[in-house]
Amino acid sequence: MMPSQPLSDTVCDVLVVGGGPVGMFTALRLAQLGQKCVLMERSRHTTRHPKMAYTSHRTMELYHRAGIIDCIRSQGVPEHYGFDEVFKTGLSEGNYTIVTLASHSPEQLRKDWAASNDGTKALEPHMRQSQIVFEACLKEMILKEPLIQCHWEHSFESLTEDDDGVTSQISTPSSTITLKSRYVIGCDGAGSKVRQSTGIVSHRKPMRVQPLNFQFVHFKSQDLAKLQAQGRFWHLVVLTGAALIAQDEVDTWTLNCIPPPGSESASEDPVQFVKKHLGGLKKPLDFEIDKVLLSGQWKSGLAVAETFISPKQRVFLAGDSAHELTPSGGNGLNTGMQDAFDITWKLAAVLNGWGGQDLLTSYDKERRAVALLTAKAAEKATNEVVLPWLTSAREIGYEKLIESSTEGQAARDSIKEIITLGRWIHEQDGTVMGYRYNKSPIIIADISAVEPPSSITEYFPNTWPGARAPHVFLRRQDKHL
Ligand SMILES: Cc1cc2nc3c(=O)[nH]c(=O)nc-3n(C[C@H](O)[C@H](O)[C@H](O)COP(=O)(O)OP(=O)(O)OC[C@H]3O[C@@H](n4cnc5c(N)ncnc54)[C@H](O)[C@@H]3O)c2cc1C
Repeated sequence: MMPSQPLSDTVCDVLVVGGGPVGMFTALRLAQLGQKCVLMERSRHTTRHPKMAYTSHRTMELYHRAGIIDCIRSQGVPEHYGFDEVFKTGLSEGNYTIVTLASHSPEQLRKDWAASNDGTKALEPHMRQSQIVFEACLKEMILKEPLIQCHWEHSFESLTEDDDGVTSQISTPSSTITLKSRYVIGCDGAGSKVRQSTGIVSHRKPMRVQPLNFQFVHFKSQDLAKLQAQGRFWHLVVLTGAALIAQDEVDTWTLNCIPPPGSESASEDPVQFVKKHLGGLKKPLDFEIDKVLLSGQWKSGLAVAETFISPKQRVFLAGDSAHELTPSGGNGLNTGMQDAFDITWKLAAVLNGWGGQDLLTSYDKERRAVALLTAKAAEKATNEVVLPWLTSAREIGYEKLIESSTEGQAARDSIKEIITLGRWIHEQDGTVMGYRYNKSPIIIADISAVEPPSSITEYFPNTWPGARAPHVFLRRQDKHL
């Protein structure tokens, strides 16, 4: 890390606003490309809300290219654990398992993919890792980078841009300062002040329930006999609208819940809240909670900014400041990491004198199209999968779902069918690897060929201009290259 100098004297090439995952990765990539930057974060700590649990295989490929994959992977959930999702009417006695959607572990996928080696799969399998762990890991990396000047507890307030650069107003714990930079990258999340200062509008898409309000409790428990009575899982979903995430396969869990309007809040009595909602349709689950780490609420939204680049092309938006994607399908941070990867090499190229203006414009054209595509998948996931089974369970009647009668079984079967149809939510190879940078000013279209097919779930390997190049495993003398 660069020695901290008084910010009021600083004139820098790039100011990165927001030290969340996208901001830290952006700063790291700039440094790796030999570019100095100032990173500014309003908090003193990295996140304590676990948020992200799923890192896609495409994002893992980018970590591979950035040379950080071993460090990140070593702090994720070990590769032999799978991504199973169990759906139940509750965990307490007398409840039913509706269905288990089993999926292979990364360890197994690695073997399967290497054996088929037909270009349809990624270099790296996906990973389970909480955002708390990921951000801490990234922070450690950026603190070692001499080209990054970090300022915690510094809040960006506003900016003005002209043809030569950007002037930002910053609040520090003791004063207000002005910082001049040639460029600003706004990685300051969904409520982005950078976006607001540039006058860029973010459009919310209409959803049936907009936004969805969640209560959550993040806690420690070693009572695996109760929590994993039906076996290990990644997600355990209770049909009344609660989902328990196994964060580390040891003792860390997060319950996310959509309680009916007017219900108690998770923060009032988090322990009773967890027991009640895990208990499901019978009595509360009687189990040991060792510690509540955090409780509160969050809202899921869906919005894409009208542009990712300011009028004078000095300010760029990346991550949630550019697109807020509901967590259904786990695409939010993954999309943000790709933004960071894209804008950093382009900006470094311009600052180093070999990149032209079209390179910067291409960031908006390429990444906004991907955000819109991903938002469409997230909207479909919410409206065609999550809401239908939640609503159906309510309409069928919770009491019916725990009846031991033939009618009860029929009710469970009908919910099982809806849930099973929605398993594509976590099988989005097409969204994750099949996006293409069409209409980019730096890519020459192939007008002589027919564009390859697209799908949310399936990735069709192709070399269409602007597509991700298919991956194949190569071997030399019995070693994977
Ligand atoms: C419950 C949940 C589960 C999720 N699961 C997944 C998943 O499995 N996979 C996935 O890909 N995504 C997931 N997401 C989405 C993911 O968490 C977000 O996409 C991600 O946090 C966005 O990162 P970001 O850096 O763009 O923004 P943020 O994480 O919001 O970070 C923004 C940073 O900017 C700072 N900041 C804000 N304003 C200012 C200011 N004025 N000055 C200085 N600093 C400022 C903030 O303090 C923060 O550190 C999930 C989200 C939730 C809520």
